Parts: sequence; C-alpha cells; structure tokens
Amino acid sequence: MLWRGWGEPEKEAPLPEPVRELLEALLGVRAPAAPAAGLDEVRLPPVALGAGALEELRAAVGAEHVRDDAEARVRHTRGKSTPDLIRMRRGDGSDAPDAVVCPGSHAEVERVLALCSGRRIAVVPFGGGTSVVGGLAPERGGFAGVIALDLRRLDRLVAVDEESMLAELEPGLRAPDAERLLGAHGLTLGHFPQSYEYATLGGFAAARSSGQASAGYGRFDDMVAGLTVATPRGTLDLGRAPRSAAGPDLRQLVLGSEGAFGVITSLRLRVRRRPGAAAYEGWRFGSFTEGARAVRALAQGGGRLPAVLRLSDETETMVGLARPDELGEGGPGAGCLLVAGHEGATPEDVAAARERTAAALSAYGGEPLGPEPGEGWARGRYSAPYLRDALLAAGATAETLETAGFWSALPALYESVRAALREALGSPLVMCHISHVYETGASLYFTVVTAQGPDPVGEWARAKRAANEAIVAAGGTISHHHGVGRDHLAAYAAEIGEVGVEILRAVKERLDPAGVLNPGVLVP
Ligand SMILES: Cc1cc2nc3c(=O)[nH]c(=O)nc-3n(C[C@H](O)[C@H](O)[C@H](O)COP(=O)(O)OP(=O)(O)OC[C@H]3O[C@@H](n4cnc5c(N)ncnc54)[C@H](O)[C@@H]3O)c2cc1C
Repeated sequence: MLWRGWGEPEKEAPLPEPVRELLEALLGVRAPAAPAAGLDEVRLPPVALGAGALEELRAAVGAEHVRDDAEARVRHTRGKSTPDLIRMRRGDGSDAPDAVVCPGSHAEVERVLALCSGRRIAVVPFGGGTSVVGGLAPERGGFAGVIALDLRRLDRLVAVDEESMLAELEPGLRAPDAERLLGAHGLTLGHFPQSYEYATLGGFAAARSSGQASAGYGRFDDMVAGLTVATPRGTLDLGRAPRSAAGPDLRQLVLGSEGAFGVITSLRLRVRRRPGAAAYEGWRFGSFTEGARAVRALAQGGGRLPAVLRLSDETETMVGLARPDELGEGGPGAGCLLVAGHEGATPEDVAAARERTAAALSAYGGEPLGPEPGEGWARGRYSAPYLRDALLAAGATAETLETAGFWSALPALYESVRAALREALGSPLVMCHISHVYETGASLYFTVVTAQGPDPVGEWARAKRAANEAIVAAGGTISHHHGVGRDHLAAYAAEIGEVGVEILRAVKERLDPAGVLNPGVLVP
C-alpha cells in the first residue's frame, strides 16, 4: 500500500481537470506550495530501543521478523485518516514505532507482551493500518520505546464448521484473503467495508467495523461467535454457544477494545453461503427526509433487508459521490439517490426480494431508476479512498466522520453536525449518507471537502472537535463504526460518563498492569 496514501501506487491518478477547476471556483482550492515528500525524506525519531530489547524481541519471534529499518517504520506510522496522510505527505514521521515485530503464533504474542511489560515498551497491535481515529499512534511519554505488533503472519483459515456455519480465522488475514479462503468452501463473511482491500479481521473486531452490506449481513461484531485474546495477564478464550446467560458477555469487552486490553489472536466467525445471484439498482427520492422515511419503513417492516441499502442526501447526490468513478454527474435537482443491492441464492430469490423492496420504496414516493445507478455504485465501491489522494494532491482536505442515532433524533443530529462543520470551516462541501440501518435508527456518514489552508491538520482538528461536540449535544454516538482511538477520547468520555470511564480504567489496569498496550488509545 502507498505509504502516504491509499492503494497500489500505480493506481494513483490526478483529479480530472474539470473537477479541479470546479473545486477552485467553488471552494478556492489551490495546489499546495510543496509536493509530497518522498519516502527517504520522511523525518523519523532515532530508534529508542536499546540493543538488549531488540535482541530479546528477536529471540521471541525470530530475527527475520523484527525490523527497525526506516521503510518498515514509515509504513507503520499512524493510520489512514486525512490528517495522518497530510502529515506523511509533509514528511512528518514523528509517531513512527521504533521497531516492527511480526509474531507467528499466539504463544509468540504472549512472549512479546511479557517482555514489553517487563521493559515498559509500548505495544501497538497493527492489522491493516487503516484506522481513521488515531488508533495506531500511542502516547510515547514514560515508555522505553514503541513497537508495532504487526499481525500479518497470523493469516490462516484454521477450521470450517459448516454444520454450525462457523469458521475459525486468524486476525492478520486481510478481508480479500479471508473471502478467497472461505470462497473455496462456498462461504462468505459478507463484510465489505470501504477499506476492504487492506483491513484485517482483527482490526474489524477491535474497532467494531460495519461493512457496506451491513443491512443484509450485519455488523462485524455481530459475526463474532468467539475469540481468543492474549493479554499481559494471560489468555482469554470467549464464546462457546450461540447465546449464553452465563453472566455478562465478556466478548463485548474485547470487541471495540482497539488493542488497549489485549491482542486478538483467533476469531470464530459466523459465515453465510455465497450468494448465487445479485442485482443492484437505484431509486430517486425528492428529498433526504422522504428517502429516510422510506428506509425506516423498510427497516421496521419486518422483512429481510437488501444486502446494501444506501441513501445519499441532496448534496452527495448532486456531486455524484455515491459513484466516485462518475464524479460530477449528479447535477442540480437530482433529488436523493438510494442504492439497493439484493443478494440471494438464486435469481428467483433476488427477484422476490426486489419486488418486496420496490413495493415499500414506491409506497413512500420512490421512483425507480433501473440498474445503472446501483451497478455504478457497486463498480466504484472501493474508489473513494483513491479519490481522496487526488483531492489532497490538488490542495483540498477531504475527510469523513460518522455517527448514529435513533430515528427520532436523526434529523436534529444531521442538521447540527452540518451546522458545526460549516461554522468551523467557512463554506465547505458537506455531504451525507445513511448506509447502516436498524429498526430503531441509523448511522449518518458525512464527507467534507474544503480548501487546505496553511495548517490543514489544525483546521480539521477544530472542525472535528466542533462536530464531535454537536454529536454529543444532539444525543448521537461518537462513532457507529470507526471507533474511539485518540481522536474521540473526549467525546467518548462524555458519552459513557464518569462511571463508564472508571470501569474501562479498572479493566485496563487488571489486564495490562504496566499499561503498555496502545497507551492513550480508547481509555480516557
Ligand atoms: C479509506 C477508508 C475507508 C474505511 N471504510 C470503513 C468502512 O466502510 N467501515 C468500517 O467499519 N471502517 C472503515 N474504515 C476504518 C477502518 O478500516 C476500520 O476501523 C478497520 O476495522 C480497521 O482494520 P485494520 O485491520 O486496518 O486495523 P488497524 O487500523 O490496523 O487497527 C485498528 C485498531 O485496532 C487495533 N487492532 C488491530 N488488530 C488488532 C488485534 N488483532 N487485536 C487487538 N487490537 C487490534 C489497533 O491497535 C487499532 O487501535 C475505513 C478506513 C479507511 C482509511
């Protein structure tokens, strides 16, 4: 993956000239003064770990699995939020780990945790490195050094239990590799987030990820039937039945724990049969309010939802962002685009699902647009991160943020986040969509584009703080699927209250007494 951006470097492409001109006219976007730094120009702090610590790490996992060269350190610096990328483009490698350590088994993870606890070396569990909330940039203060614990060698499909529709997989598997291995058994997870190409199963569990097909397949945390976790205090092995009344569900302490309580080394995941047929289509609604009403009716109707259900607001539809490959083709007055993606065992199943959905959407004022808008969305479903790189290079800041709330609170949440972003950034382009729906509510996913000023990282930090405060005040959650990291700590503390914070601190102290696991992340 491109170290200062997204995807294969050869897929990097400049912004189409008409889009660049439009951004210049609308938002005052101008090319940055300096080009992006080269890999060898990134400024790194000296390696803080002494020879003794490095020797012990090599003994724990094998010498060839410990790297402290500049390239390995750069590639494990922070995650992939827009501020992360801007800082890398400017050659700022100040958060680089001192070394990258790749364990090959649960036992090796335990060994590394024991030695890092003894030597007070901070450990950052590292999956695909796609965190967008500062989940990979721990606080260094008071530690002898920082290692990135890269889980890429834990990449096996361990077992498939087709009778129970469960698969045991290791956490370092990237999503496409997991799908390939499961595909050989005719199975799928159905988890397709926009970061699909690079993110790992461990990262999905640790950050409570939700994929683009969550309406049909559910969130990742819903798929986790069981997991194994290495902590500095020993091993946790959780989940032995589909449901249990044996006390509180301790799996929930691990899901979303972002490497602060332990390292997930194995996952037992619910799987589904691969669909034999699919059909994607588009619908038009006159307004976001009308479309949201239709989506709510579907979610509360009791029937099976389409695998993908995604409603863009007026601005996102106008810009054409739902189909990044066809950016700028929405046009004014386009209303609001809804994409419905149906998947099923046979074409007949899909046809029946389409009919049910069509009846509900028509009843709420939806107008069918045929397959092209849906298929266009499906073609471009992983393109937006590449577009972000082109926008950054052209001098725009493009970033996303997300929340969720109950249906009755959603309109106010939507308006207050937009107002906060506009107030903080002047006249940015603020777009939104609903793509994860439940009977009781939905998530709101905002994309913001604005001109880069002299301090784009600081400007975005102020805007993000304002948006977070608006989310808390409007009763939404600080994250529906990106997690807490370091970026959401203050708002997370406000959301769970003092007692909630005390509980998190107590768990952290018990499982990680030396406090070496991802310090500064998750626990306020
Ligand atoms: C362009 C882009 C698009 C995205 N789209 C989506 C989306 O559609 N849906 C969505 O949910 N998210 C999305 N994300 C966010 C991100 O991909 C998810 O949070 C994902 O779950 C992170 O997986 P990862 O393997 O990259 O984890 P990392 O980024 O490597 O780690 C995430 C956090 O989990 C911890 N961690 C990682 N592995 C383990 C482990 N085995 N044990 C314990 N802790 C661990 C890390 O320390 C870190 O705190 C997107 C991000 C980007 C950059």
